[in-house]
Amino acid sequence: MSPDPAAVLARAEAAYLGLALGDALGATVEFMTPREIAHHHGVHREIGGGGWLRLAPGQVTDDTGMALALGQAILAHDGRIEALACARAFDAWMRARPVDIGNTVRRNLIRFRNTGEPEAPASDHDAGNGAAMRVLPVALATFGRPEAEVRAACRAQAHVTHHNAMSDAACEFLALSVQDFLRGDSLQQVFRQRIRPLVAAHPAYAFRDRPRRENPSGWVVETMQAVLQAVVDVGGFEHCLVDVVNRGGDADTTGAIAGMLAGALYGREALPARWLKALDPAVREACMAQARGLIAQPSLPAREAASQACRAPAREAASQACRAPAREAETQTGTSADLVPGKS
Ligand SMILES: [Mg+2]
Repeated sequence: MSPDPAAVLARAEAAYLGLALGDALGATVEFMTPREIAHHHGVHREIGGGGWLRLAPGQVTDDTGMALALGQAILAHDGRIEALACARAFDAWMRARPVDIGNTVRRNLIRFRNTGEPEAPASDHDAGNGAAMRVLPVALATFGRPEAEVRAACRAQAHVTHHNAMSDAACEFLALSVQDFLRGDSLQQVFRQRIRPLVAAHPAYAFRDRPRRENPSGWVVETMQAVLQAVVDVGGFEHCLVDVVNRGGDADTTGAIAGMLAGALYGREALPARWLKALDPAVREACMAQARGLIAQPSLPAREAASQACRAPAREAASQACRAPAREAETQTGTSADLVPGKS
């Protein structure tokens, strides 16, 4: 049974807003230890800016910025994810002097400027979380496409700056898990379908029966361990994000990645109103507009005909219907208690 398009769109918006909310929430405590966070904030649970980047309240960082740059490039190319277009978009983003930028991203974008070659050479040094944090637009634009195509699209965007097997595994896992949640799959299903196979293929990602991952670094493995512990073991959107950012370390990125997953899982109604109000309005609108645009790309073979109809000038009403903002998604619940026990 194909999923209800309005529900899919609402979850897609929640995933994009979740990414930005997690980024904005976590940025305040990026590079702090849990002890420092507790000293200064008690439990950090409000979007208020500050942090080492001295952000305005509601401001986001490179995680959301690069995702929006990628999403714009995908929309400008009718839903295609091409390495050169991604590289040009990231390069333009860097030229606009973003508030922060990862070392691996900077190094490989300078390499692109010098060589014109969009794909970085494979490197053990590229196992940072910078490709995973921005992968959401690929998940939305390839929703409904065959898994091999989704994986190839993830790598095309990732290899511009991060050409590394562990980064690839995280990017592909995130895109496919988001797509499962968009279809309405439960956390328990995604645990079986995606999380367990990820850890089986890459045991470094094991996160259960392990100490709580605190101070996660920018290494994609530590980032994902913190995210997976929070998403799997802490139920609810807000609790999940509060848990992950209070671990400190690369908190804006753990917040962003947990936010995209938890947004897709729990839906629009689970996003705290006070956080949405605090988020930079331009970012909030851009996330929602891109979610609508990307999910409307003619990517589903079964939707091709409908999509063509949506694009025909004579079918303006249908087009409006295709692009109309969705109703609120039903909030989906899922906690660790529902999960199949066992090591991941
Ligand atoms: Mg950041």
